[in-house]
Amino acid sequence: MAEGNGKRIAILALHIESNRFAPPVGRADFEEKVLLYGDEILEDAASEHPRMVGTMTGFIHAMNDAGPWTPVPIVNADVGAAGPIDHDFYLELKQEMRERLEAAMPLDGVYFGEHGAAVSTAISDPDGDLFQMARDVVGPNVPIISTLDLHTNISEEMVSATDALIIYRTNPHVDQYERGMEASGVMHELLGNVTPTTAFIRLPLVAPQVTQLTASGPYGEIIDYGQTLIDDTVMNISIAGGFTYGDTPENGMAFLVTTRDDMTRAQSICRDLAERVWNYRERFTPNLTSLEDCIAGAVARGEDPSEPSIIIADVADNPGGGGRGNTAWLLEGLYEAKAKGVILAVFNDAALAAEAHEHGVGATFDARFNRDEADQYSNQFTAEATVLALSDGNIVGRDPGSRKNMSIDLGPTAALQVGTVTVIVISIRQQCIDPGYFENFGVSVTDARTVVVKSRGHFRAGFLPYFPPERVIECDAPGLTSPNLDNFDWTGFQRPIYPLDQDAEWTPPDW
Ligand SMILES: [Zn+2]
Repeated sequence: MAEGNGKRIAILALHIESNRFAPPVGRADFEEKVLLYGDEILEDAASEHPRMVGTMTGFIHAMNDAGPWTPVPIVNADVGAAGPIDHDFYLELKQEMRERLEAAMPLDGVYFGEHGAAVSTAISDPDGDLFQMARDVVGPNVPIISTLDLHTNISEEMVSATDALIIYRTNPHVDQYERGMEASGVMHELLGNVTPTTAFIRLPLVAPQVTQLTASGPYGEIIDYGQTLIDDTVMNISIAGGFTYGDTPENGMAFLVTTRDDMTRAQSICRDLAERVWNYRERFTPNLTSLEDCIAGAVARGEDPSEPSIIIADVADNPGGGGRGNTAWLLEGLYEAKAKGVILAVFNDAALAAEAHEHGVGATFDARFNRDEADQYSNQFTAEATVLALSDGNIVGRDPGSRKNMSIDLGPTAALQVGTVTVIVISIRQQCIDPGYFENFGVSVTDARTVVVKSRGHFRAGFLPYFPPERVIECDAPGLTSPNLDNFDWTGFQRPIYPLDQDAEWTPPDW
């Protein structure tokens, strides 16, 4: 790394996807995940198994490769998907970022590795607020760019305070590192005096999360179409699916077209993209399978080994969307139906994992699942369990995308046999996105007739070699991340909004 000369680029991130219906998070929750200050950020990016998201490492690595620069690492606060960020902690974090940015002046550029769906316990748009804070510090002429998860809710302030926003184009997210590298390229263009112009449209459309896959379907089609329009003038086209459970006035599928100083072109493409999606908005309709039918399908697979195995996604309890990873409806149903050959991964329950560690391998005890958090979104379940394996829960991600090669800490972990169901119980909330989440504990994916994952869609990349899309079943169970939008009491959206309001209307901007 060529530190000490070249452009001075600040690097910082608040990385949180806030489910407004989930419990708030504060400093301790971030410390349990990834809270890095100053040089810790560069050390992590240089390590064999970084803990930061791929956009941060991709940006830093690409900047290193591009020539001399002076990285100015500020703060990386990453808790992943959770509830709202406690507002007092948010203000502390913002102040720490501001002080470090001010101390680092003069800066030549600012890079944010933001997620873009933060909500605090007091405000709906901390991301825009942080971007504006950075703008206030560096002034109008220093480029500020950010990468964003495609589950970002784009606010007017996020657009106005920055020069370019670069959103993932894949879901499951397998292009985070690439988008970080792209941000390095954009940063160099802006340092080289290219003037970016961005057109922005947000539709009154909250697409249920399961309809936002990119390999096929309405969302993937519009992203692919957008990429055909990239040329010497069009720098970036980003389309945000949005994160429904943020429940904010900034919710709605969003279109950002950034050109090299050609606003007319940016606006014309942006309007075209938004009109296309609005005209086929009814295609963003989930195709869920009832809990009863999921259980019946698992029983049938257990009875007939000639049938191909299936994977059931408990999409309503997705820790990757702020779910707690501890609802037991599927577990209870599969246990009672005695469905054979079932692996359920991963169940987040630190108290139960600790109890299994106390009992030891081979012990049998009454396992009380979700003893601490039962509410309208999550139930309890008790059954006799035998401890199959125990572990400290440190694994290395192997899915081809967002977690590949990353260190993942599940906390104390136990594999339990509960009737016919093998359950992996973890202590640090995660979604299961590759078979390593249970194969590390001696449970093989190829032995299963049915795998149940608590994940909305990110498991698809890591499990694709075992379960092609036609063998993936999305379960309509209750939970904090149910795609069934009627299950929630929405208060934040600007109404009317489709599909909650079927008669919602939208008129293209009169640019
Ligand atoms: Zn996402």
